[in-house]
Amino acid sequence: MRSAGWLSVVVVGLSLAACAPCVAAAEGDELVVNVRYRGEIPESDGQYRVFCRKQQWDAGETAIVICDMWNQHWCRGATRRVAELAPVMNRVVAAARRKGVFVIHAPSGTVDHYQNHPARRRAKGAPEAANLPEGIAAWRRWKDETEERVGYPIDHSDGGCDCTPPCKQGSPWRRQIDTIAIKDEDAISDSGVEVWNVLEQRGIRNVILMGVHTNMCVLGRPFGLRNLARFGKNVVLMRDLTDTMYNSRRRPCVSHFTGTDLVVEHVEKYVCPTITSTVLTGKPPFRFQNDERPLVAFISAESEYKAADTLPGFAHELELNYGLCCEILQGSTERNSADRHHMSGMEILRDADLVVVFARRRAFPADQMQCLRDYLGRGGPLLGLRTASHAFDTRGSAPPGHDEWLNFDPEVFGGNYHGHYGRGPKTAVTPADATADHVILKGIDVPLLSNGSLYKTGPLAEGTRTLLMGTIPDQDPEPVAWTNRYRRSRVFYTSLGHADDFENPQFRQLLINAVFWAMDKPVPERDGAVIDAAAIQPRRLETCLRSLSFRPEAEGRSGEIRPRPNGAARSQPDVSTPLRCARHDNVASLCISWAPASPLYPIPERLGIERPVTVQ
Ligand SMILES: [Zn+2]
Repeated sequence: MRSAGWLSVVVVGLSLAACAPCVAAAEGDELVVNVRYRGEIPESDGQYRVFCRKQQWDAGETAIVICDMWNQHWCRGATRRVAELAPVMNRVVAAARRKGVFVIHAPSGTVDHYQNHPARRRAKGAPEAANLPEGIAAWRRWKDETEERVGYPIDHSDGGCDCTPPCKQGSPWRRQIDTIAIKDEDAISDSGVEVWNVLEQRGIRNVILMGVHTNMCVLGRPFGLRNLARFGKNVVLMRDLTDTMYNSRRRPCVSHFTGTDLVVEHVEKYVCPTITSTVLTGKPPFRFQNDERPLVAFISAESEYKAADTLPGFAHELELNYGLCCEILQGSTERNSADRHHMSGMEILRDADLVVVFARRRAFPADQMQCLRDYLGRGGPLLGLRTASHAFDTRGSAPPGHDEWLNFDPEVFGGNYHGHYGRGPKTAVTPADATADHVILKGIDVPLLSNGSLYKTGPLAEGTRTLLMGTIPDQDPEPVAWTNRYRRSRVFYTSLGHADDFENPQFRQLLINAVFWAMDKPVPERDGAVIDAAAIQPRRLETCLRSLSFRPEAEGRSGEIRPRPNGAARSQPDVSTPLRCARHDNVASLCISWAPASPLYPIPERLGIERPVTVQ
């Protein structure tokens, strides 16, 4: 497993920091912090896996840096969102302060407003650190060559305002927003040097960045994520207490809040891990009022079928093409590791509109399992994939304080899992009798073939509705997909979900249909294509186009599709490749743009549609 680029830097940096003479840290509470980051999946065309890890920090060795939470921004929308964020941030910061975390306010360009404040004097008075890094005084445009080559996942070249009429750019900020209390024992500084000095003076290793805007100042300021990461601090972004400058009319033409999530993803891949305010409050992460995207929480914890590899790509598709907000709660992927039963962040289920379970023989901490029981108790819909039938049956090996749910399969899914056939024969999947018109099967070409071994699932409980049956030679067919009601919850389960199944557009469509059926919403039409192609091959591009119901015209110019040379294209100028395609019997010119610092984008205007949609 190759790891994210920042990992090696953190290790080097920590050893540097350890050599530096520093004052012993004040005694503080212990903070249990669940960090999330992403690592590249080997030989995967640039796909990433999510990692969630528990860390224990000494609160006395921990600081919060609040970036640019100004009283006013040049963009009205940005000012409004800061005002909405500030009271929440104030509560989170107060909770952290009570635990012994040091707080640094960094309202850049306005610190003179505070020139006589004890917190300002504290920052100015910190002695110069012996290990003051060269470069800490300056903005950092990219953390390293890898990040630069990849570039931003959103186009913010217009400044990111999406107000109507557009706001005029300027510098109207005068101080930090008053909603965030500044205590005498805090510090105020917008200088990388001062922030570093005060961190070193106090022996601080762990830094939590929050504030605005992730895609600009939070990453790039002298005291921002990039500098603190590359100079060896254990720095994290608090991903729910931030915002981006992003105009939804710009690439990739998604919700403002999806734009923020894409930048967070970028941070987790290339810069540093992230956390949510849940670690300090025990409450679900903050969401903006205008964020109306349905929230889908994935509970992923298994070691057999590469759920950790396949679910992030699927979640990405739901975000980019279907306007959903996806949160992946990733448990251990090891069969026998010490943290096998660890899970965190299930508090988010309180706000979730759908939960997807792909876990196997886990017993999560009792308070986390309670979140799932509460979620189902209020009628929240559920999707179960493959091992979900025995997700919470550890056969009696649950550690103390952890909960099993032995009857999850019969009780919730109406299933009857009792093992599976051996590997080898492909499973032919066909509709069950008289269900061909079910909305979950709409647009699915059957039979579809699965490489996964066939699960023995029947007979199902009364009240279930079987949608798909699976057949292997010389055996009785078994149900492979069905719906059920668990109390008030709409429930869908499929025993499919092998890594190969996710490569099959039919299977992905089945899941997408099930996602919307479970939420009792119509499945949106896909009407364009965004192809995330880190190093896409022509053959793969054709597969992508076909899965979108595009097909290259015989007389078209598909021969001109050029793959981006591996690693080189990010620095190339924007090259557009015209391609004639047909979709729904309409022939149109599809223009594929190899824009620098961007995924591969068919330009949707050519198809007469409003926004680009899916495909990985
Ligand atoms: Zn604006």
